[in-house]
Amino acid sequence: MKIPKVKLVPMPETEEEKQAISYTWNKEIGTRHFLGGESEDINNTDYPRCESCKNQMSFYAQIDSIGEKYDLADCMVIHTFICFDCFTVHSRLAQI
Ligand SMILES: [Zn+2]
Repeated sequence: MKIPKVKLVPMPETEEEKQAISYTWNKEIGTRHFLGGESEDINNTDYPRCESCKNQMSFYAQIDSIGEKYDLADCMVIHTFICFDCFTVHSRLAQI
């Protein structure tokens, strides 16, 4: 199942939160969050199979590295997949 792509935008409220989400050397890294859409690093035919029922999983979300202090292995993102048959979730790091 393909979910329409919806961009997510962090809304930090405190100074601590604002510091957490920033990259000083790149303005795009840390903003690549979205729901639905498609994985940018693998074709949808290569999406993982559900560990429980073996059905093809759906791409659910991309969560970017938060900021320099919480960077994921040199600006990687987290890709989360969902099985809409049994609701098993699978997440993995991706380099995009
Ligand atoms: Zn399943």
